[in-house]
Amino acid sequence: MANNIGRVKVREQEPFIRGKNFEEVCLGYNSEEAILEASRCLNCKNPKCVSACPVKIKIPSFIEKIKGGNFYESFEILSEDTSLPAVCGRVCPQETQCEGSCILGIKGEAVAIGKLERFVADYVRHNPKVLKSNEIIRNGLKVAVIGSGPAGLACAYDLAKMGYDITIFESLHKPGGVLTYGIPEFRLPKAEVVEKEIDKLKDLGIKIETDVFIGRTITIDELFDQENFKAAFIGSGAGLPQFPNVIGENLNGVFSANEFLTRNNLMRAFDNEYDTPFFCGKKVCVVGGGNVAMDAARTALRCGAEVTLVYRRSEKELPARREEVHHAVEEGVKFELLTNPIEIKGDEKGWVKSIVCVRMELGEPDSSGRRSPIPIKGSEFEIETDSVIVALGTKINRIIADTTPGMEVDSKGRIIVENTATSRKGVFAGGDVVTGAATVILAMGEGRKAASAIDKYIKSLK
Ligand code: FAD
Ligand code: SF4
Repeated sequence: MANNIGRVKVREQEPFIRGKNFEEVCLGYNSEEAILEASRCLNCKNPKCVSACPVKIKIPSFIEKIKGGNFYESFEILSEDTSLPAVCGRVCPQETQCEGSCILGIKGEAVAIGKLERFVADYVRHNPKVLKSNEIIRNGLKVAVIGSGPAGLACAYDLAKMGYDITIFESLHKPGGVLTYGIPEFRLPKAEVVEKEIDKLKDLGIKIETDVFIGRTITIDELFDQENFKAAFIGSGAGLPQFPNVIGENLNGVFSANEFLTRNNLMRAFDNEYDTPFFCGKKVCVVGGGNVAMDAARTALRCGAEVTLVYRRSEKELPARREEVHHAVEEGVKFELLTNPIEIKGDEKGWVKSIVCVRMELGEPDSSGRRSPIPIKGSEFEIETDSVIVALGTKINRIIADTTPGMEVDSKGRIIVENTATSRKGVFAGGDVVTGAATVILAMGEGRKAASAIDKYIKSLK
């Protein structure tokens, strides 16, 4: 037991180097570092980390295997509860989940659970070996999964292991949802990590049909009536951007973070081999404080811009992962906190030239429990900028609900479910389309829950 040593530092690209490239920032642990970090774990009898993990990964058990250098066995334990360990190890907000509850964090530093999860997944991917797997007995029953983000992938994975014949329908030309089009390469490599994780699903026999927009190309009713699907899972996410509703938001040079990131990640604007139309500007202002805002700011920085991030609350309330904020600061993103945009000004040709902001102070807590920001009179000031990237959250696209009679949604368009079952018989839903924009692991957890509900439902039909 080596819990008296500090948390093993993970290797990263230096800030002044990584700020100019799109390669992954965090280099991860090597075997020796992982074993040393794993040796800090106390293997608690009542592990708080497990209760705090939305998919209840058997954390002490997978870490125990690392201690002994049994990386393949560790991977098998991880795979019982997650189909995307290389992704989760990289992007989960561990500081508020498993690591936030680790007993070692009370007096010192929590075990680096996320970095260990990532290490095991990367080790097995780099050193492939046929692992023992239970033989799948196919039942030939068809289930449609709509959307190939974490919710859809997790649901498809569990159902395929139960023997169902799964087809995932994805409206974009590549699968992965936000993992592919939203989270940048420097945080989550696409070819090396996301595509490899998706290949594991294809190896189970899961079919993925891209460029199929459910509700337009084909409806859910048609999938049931014409294609003989027995059940459907909707994991279509919450990808519709929201704008701040200020004067000037229609000027040239104002983008949603989703568009800016999609052009870079999915359409690879940063890569000279692609001629994706893309505008960044020399000075960029990003509005928002979540992971999406950090990703947009750090992407603009890598495209050579001087970046200012404007957020209306204080540093304490920034909703982004702590690691991403820390990386953004190190790389040179300038933070204007307690600041809110009130107008975007343009030049005579209709292009953005500046953003007018007002300073804020924090008042009483609002319904979210966070102190609400209040404008300070007379504190208006202007920031010169060539573009404004808006990262103020996303909404749900209602096309599926509108084309599926009897499907109930709430006032925000979120699909209403009871234990993942929607109001339409045989149709289940989970992930951001139910909760609104949330996290990868919560979406995966709901996808898994839906898989067992679908299994129960189909068995009840016999
Ligand atoms: P999505 O990932 O949105 O996938 C939905 C898929 O459905 C998409 O591929 C979409 O094209 C497809 N689709 C939509 N409509 C249809 C249709 N009608 N027919 C067919 N297909 C359709 N979470 C974290 O935990 N950590 C992070 O660091 C983090 N960073 C983020 C950074 C960015 C830029 C963004 C945008 C989000 C981030 N999140 C992060 C949030 C997280 O990615 C989401 O909560 C998660 O991806 C939701 O999964 P999902 O499967 O519900 O939806
Ligand atoms: Fe190990 Fe921390 Fe989990 Fe205890 S709470 S089992 S020390 S990771």
